[in-house]
Amino acid sequence: MMILDCHTHRMPPQPQAVICVSPACFSPVAGQSYSLGIHPWNPEEATPENLDLLLTVARAPEVVAIGEAGVDALRGAPLYQQALTFRRQIEISEQLEKPLVIHDVKAHDTVAGLRRDFRPRQPWILHGFRAKPSVVEMMLKASPDFYFSFGEKWNPDSLRAVPRDRLLAETDESALPIEEIIARISNILGEDVTSTISANTLRLFRGVESTSYTVRNLT
Ligand SMILES: [Zn+2]
Repeated sequence: MMILDCHTHRMPPQPQAVICVSPACFSPVAGQSYSLGIHPWNPEEATPENLDLLLTVARAPEVVAIGEAGVDALRGAPLYQQALTFRRQIEISEQLEKPLVIHDVKAHDTVAGLRRDFRPRQPWILHGFRAKPSVVEMMLKASPDFYFSFGEKWNPDSLRAVPRDRLLAETDESALPIEEIIARISNILGEDVTSTISANTLRLFRGVESTSYTVRNLT
């Protein structure tokens, strides 16, 4: 099986994708993979009750990652509030042993600093990565366990700077099919990276394979 799209907001069924929803909207479809989190654009969702709900519902086998969570310097709640919600989701990711999908807009230092402070065991995925190659370098210096997910728009030099085993792709809110996004990435890299991206995504979201072949026990 192939999982190619590590982050989308499309409705199920998306057998090749991990669908991102907030914990309050989680209504799992059997065989579908999800990531659950509180987005920094939605400060009204960042309540203690919702974070407790996240911890509870994200235990479901369909949930293969936490997020998207993170910090957006251009939008959302004041940064200290975003950072508090983000830190709690780092803890949940560690507690449930599921990787963290990160929304990072102009907050690379904060994210790299938190990675250094927390020393998490779970990998972190920088989704919708559009930053410069120097940011790739900075992040990998902070930790080799950063992954970089490329969607519709990105910096070609950053794409080239990412080690192949840290490369992911996503549709996010794009209307393009994931195959088209991966074709554009492959074109820049001069080789077809479809199987590389699929292997990286499967390795990262260890639960994906079992979810897709297990009939969910609904009782
Ligand atoms: Zn997204």
